[in-house]
Amino acid sequence: MGQYGARHPDPVECLRLLGLPEAASAAQIKRAYHLLAQRYHPDKSGGDEASRRHFVAISRAYRFLMKTARLVEDGKPVGRCRMCGEFGEAVIGLDGGTRCPACLLRPGGRLLLPVPTFVVVKCVSVFTLLGVGAYLLLRALQTGNAWYAAGGALAALAALGVLTLICLRVVYCIQPHEEAARRARLRHRRA
Ligand SMILES: [Zn+2]
Repeated sequence: MGQYGARHPDPVECLRLLGLPEAASAAQIKRAYHLLAQRYHPDKSGGDEASRRHFVAISRAYRFLMKTARLVEDGKPVGRCRMCGEFGEAVIGLDGGTRCPACLLRPGGRLLLPVPTFVVVKCVSVFTLLGVGAYLLLRALQTGNAWYAAGGALAALAALGVLTLICLRVVYCIQPHEEAARRARLRHRRA
């Protein structure tokens, strides 16, 4: 079923199976399916294997087209997800690519929210530590207590430590990606 396999039905192929024009309403899809189902239903075709298989194919196409037609009738944008290849309700990501709602929320989808929990935890911990440090230093200034000053300095150091970890991780993450891109460019040039 098209270049994306049976798991991701191709709308053009589905329309062709049901003998429908490029733009079909839900009513047209229903009518076309019921006419074909009468001919290919296992009860009507006398157990013929080719008919049974065709019936399965038109039923799958029917369910897929009805889902799409309902989305269109509800005024929802439809399209092919750039990440998983699924055709259905579509959203435009921040990178301008079409995505299904599931892929928009997938942490692997770069540049998109929500960011992975670990990143949130790291950012929050930096701000918390900086806040605690500032508060302790303020207390130290107010009371002249050296312990507050020491605590504030420790919190600031810890915040710096987390920040360093984040920076190291960013450098570590970017490098393999850029290396792969560079190698692909080299391969391209050689070919
Ligand atoms: Zn997707």
